[in-house]
Amino acid sequence: MIMQVSIKGVLKTSMLDYPGRISAVMFLPFCNLRCPFCHNPELITNPDELDDIDPEDFIDFLKRRKNWLDGVVITGGEPTMHKGLPELISRIKKLGYLVKLDSNGTNPEMLKELLDRKLLDYIAMDFKSSLERYDEVTAVKVDKEKIKKSVELIKQSGIDHEFRATVLPDFFDTEEAKKISEWLKGAKRFALQQFKNVDKVLDPSFQDKESYTPDELTAFKRIMEPYFDEVEVRGI
Ligand code: SF4
Repeated sequence: MIMQVSIKGVLKTSMLDYPGRISAVMFLPFCNLRCPFCHNPELITNPDELDDIDPEDFIDFLKRRKNWLDGVVITGGEPTMHKGLPELISRIKKLGYLVKLDSNGTNPEMLKELLDRKLLDYIAMDFKSSLERYDEVTAVKVDKEKIKKSVELIKQSGIDHEFRATVLPDFFDTEEAKKISEWLKGAKRFALQQFKNVDKVLDPSFQDKESYTPDELTAFKRIMEPYFDEVEVRGI
């Protein structure tokens, strides 16, 4: 069977990408957003230069690893850009794995299909900003109605979930922390991810951007804690 999905990278074992689980991670190319701080630019701008991994080879790998892994994390890029994603996840679920999907929330139609078919065990939505700043942070014009739909689908999904944002002074401050919390309140988990000004970011001018200090991130966490079951700071 030929699946309409492209895989450009696999991490065979991870203790970090699926909370509390040992997982394999697969990286799917392409994204419809252009966040300047994106740490996977090769998946976004030049995916054709990366080798393809045959989805059937990945399924065979999962069959062999069944006793060693709990779950599979599907990340990108933006995985929902691949029409064959539901088929791929269905194959993985039939092997008995838990599945976590990372998504930017721009494709609520596919999220709904995946949730209706009970193909997901965990969903992590990369969340960008308050509604007013979404286009600025993602560097494209985003259909905010789709973002709002995805937020509601995830909050009401009944499955384990988190919203998470990469946090840096250009785009995030106390006011943003409050506006985002008001919007997402009632969600299970919010993660504040430290921005790392490394060589490999989508917009080279962001290589030298300042990050917040751990104390500043902790102060944002305190502002947001009343709105969620759990707020985490990651990457410090
Ligand atoms: S950070 Fe995520 S949503 Fe933004 S461009 Fe990169 S893969 Fe796409």
